[in-house]
Amino acid sequence: MKKALAKMCWGHCRCVYCEDSLADEIEHFWPKDLYPDKVFAWENYLYACGPCNGPKGNAFAVLPTGSNVATSVARAKGDAIVQPLAGDAALLDPRCDDPLDYLELDIVETFVFRPRPGIGARAKERARYTIETLGLNARSAVIEARRTAYENLLTVLERVVSLVEQKRPLDRVRTAVERTTHRSVWEEMKRQHTRVPELTLPFSKAEVALTW
Ligand SMILES: [Zn+2]
Repeated sequence: MKKALAKMCWGHCRCVYCEDSLADEIEHFWPKDLYPDKVFAWENYLYACGPCNGPKGNAFAVLPTGSNVATSVARAKGDAIVQPLAGDAALLDPRCDDPLDYLELDIVETFVFRPRPGIGARAKERARYTIETLGLNARSAVIEARRTAYENLLTVLERVVSLVEQKRPLDRVRTAVERTTHRSVWEEMKRQHTRVPELTLPFSKAEVALTW
């Protein structure tokens, strides 16, 4: 099972939540204490790192039908075991949601995630809940790692331009991009290339990289 889950991670088996650390724990997206019916459901398994899996633990919230407010369904010790409040998960689920539909990474200055501008109230609340619950902007080492990934990918992109101009093979640089940690940095570089001046020219010279 771990082998199959590892294949679903980007690059070198990076955690599905923070993209930073080695994924080495099987995570139940819907916590097993609260949703015993999903304990053996394949769709409920993810490969995550300890620093993400730990704080998430049994913290879980839903957006009840008709409400855009994340409502905790976590049970404290000694609480009566009752069916959790029904609703959609507040946390973004990497198995079925594309986090970048909800989140945008600032690749110019801060390298922190924010809710994507223009999304609806429900999507915005899920983005906010996910950022806070996983501490995506609270772990300075992860933020710095995103910045480093950007600098490395910019260098790789410049290399792509040079190889395109020389009409040389691109296999190795493509692999370097595909194996990067913090894949969302690359996705944002592609998505924001027309508004980030230092990306506009290289991507216009090496348009093929926009398909990687
Ligand atoms: Zn993680």
